[in-house]
Amino acid sequence: MSKNIYKIYTVLLLLFVSSCYSQPSSKTKHMDNTPNQESAKASTDSNAVIKTDAEWKKILSPEVYYIAREKGTERPFTSKFETFKEVGTYYCAVCGNPLFKSDTKFESGCGWPSFYEPISKNSVIYLPDNSYGMKRTEVECGRCKSHLGHVFEDGPPPTGLRYCINGVVLDFKKAQAAEEKYNNRH
Ligand SMILES: [Zn+2]
Repeated sequence: MSKNIYKIYTVLLLLFVSSCYSQPSSKTKHMDNTPNQESAKASTDSNAVIKTDAEWKKILSPEVYYIAREKGTERPFTSKFETFKEVGTYYCAVCGNPLFKSDTKFESGCGWPSFYEPISKNSVIYLPDNSYGMKRTEVECGRCKSHLGHVFEDGPPPTGLRYCINGVVLDFKKAQAAEEKYNNRH
């Protein structure tokens, strides 16, 4: 009888020890499977991105947060994209939404990267902006509603529009170009 009790104790003890050891490893596994929530970027996903100011502040750099979420303006002639001439696509630096093609970019001389047309109708949205005693039209990202800049009606043909965009909130991806290979060979 006492032998049996001893056996039961041994089994219980083994169970207890093994459950103690299995806990940390299952926790680690769970953490590995947790998706990375640090970035909201996606160039193929067109679903709206909605976050609180506190959440944006955690994800974005102070410069991007100031322009994108507080509707700030970068100093003119400071963006590397202002006179940039590479062939490719400009994306929202906050969410990765495609915004402008390089072939719609032009040198306006206004001090900010300028385009005459967005990639598609839904890539940006427009809001009236009457701040600073001016009547302007604000341009926001169509996906994450980050402030991008303003649009004016003094642009070149074919649209006659000038999208004056803060370079800080733009990401650029070079065209994966057949034409680039072609240029290298010839
Ligand atoms: Zn965006």
